[in-house]
Amino acid sequence: MTTSQEYDLLIAGGTVIDPATGLNGVADVAISGGKIAAVGQRLPGHAKQTLDATGLLVTPGLIDLHAHVYPGCTPLSIDPDPLAARSGTTTMVDCGSVGANTFGGFRRFVVEPSRCRVLAFVNISVIGLAAMPECGYGRFVDSNAALRCIEEHRDLVVGVKVRGSRNAFGEDNTIQPVWMAVAAAAAGGVPVIMHLGDPPPTLEQGLKVLRPGDIVTHSFKGQPVTRLVDHRGKVKPQVLAAREKGVLFDIGHGSGSFSWTVSHQLAEQGFWPDTISTDVHTSSIKAPISIDMPNAMSKLLHLGMDLEAVVRAATDEPARTIGWHDRIGSLQPGMLADVAVFALEEGSFPLTDSYKQAEQASRCLVARHTICGGELLTEP
Ligand SMILES: [Zn+2]
Repeated sequence: MTTSQEYDLLIAGGTVIDPATGLNGVADVAISGGKIAAVGQRLPGHAKQTLDATGLLVTPGLIDLHAHVYPGCTPLSIDPDPLAARSGTTTMVDCGSVGANTFGGFRRFVVEPSRCRVLAFVNISVIGLAAMPECGYGRFVDSNAALRCIEEHRDLVVGVKVRGSRNAFGEDNTIQPVWMAVAAAAAGGVPVIMHLGDPPPTLEQGLKVLRPGDIVTHSFKGQPVTRLVDHRGKVKPQVLAAREKGVLFDIGHGSGSFSWTVSHQLAEQGFWPDTISTDVHTSSIKAPISIDMPNAMSKLLHLGMDLEAVVRAATDEPARTIGWHDRIGSLQPGMLADVAVFALEEGSFPLTDSYKQAEQASRCLVARHTICGGELLTEP
């Protein structure tokens, strides 16, 4: 590299945490043409724009594996861009709001106009979450339609969503939609993400159906019937066996799926999530839960998860889970220039779980800048 090098944007002097490369230290991050151009100490050359990140954390842009971002078509969805800009989130993966019959509108009205990156797990129900119970007593479950949607929209579809819950099926005696989701995903070569809900399927039935690389979302929820721990607070053997097999466990916080009680029990046994996600929707985004990625990550820090592991679970790990780790989730030169800049503030921060219980955390991540594809989504 010569000193004649000119970058579009230089993020200077921050502590860079990039778990995919093992980098954890003070460095500059340079961006050109929408891609990461260089990472290193005191990079030579000039930049059209410089952000001073001294005293701040610089990470790959966050990837939210469980969001609901199809406003106007599904009652629970929110607009992705404002949330992305204020939370360091550069990729929102919609988790089942969209079905095969509504995917064209999602591409046209959400993906194309959004400044942040938007991807999707397509629902096994053709109507997505336009109405619930979305499976409509079986009428709207169609694995062939889901497979056609995967093949037609492979640039956006990263897997198949199914709510493993009688509330989704509209019946109380079938796990058929879970089988059909796995069938469509297997044929399309993508993972299934299964919402853990009121049985059927029971936790045990659901885990048995899932394959290595498939994901359980809402893993840290508190309802006795679906929690990952038994009545003594011990992680259930079926859960450990599923993890051993390669099933992944995601947070999917939402307004009903993150319990401080269960989270502490899981943390004490070192059972950390593979991925951290929000399940952000019109209800969970409101106070007192106020969920966003930095909020969810701060909760895992409070539980004792290591900072680098927390960043990994919000960047590299979700990128790998959806097969996008060659493009996003790391700051290696050549990757898409998705970057987040945070302050790790110290003090006393009330963090509220889905059951309206608050704990006082001593550290809290606060996003300062969000850069997606080299474009600064926040004002400098
Ligand atoms: Zn959800």
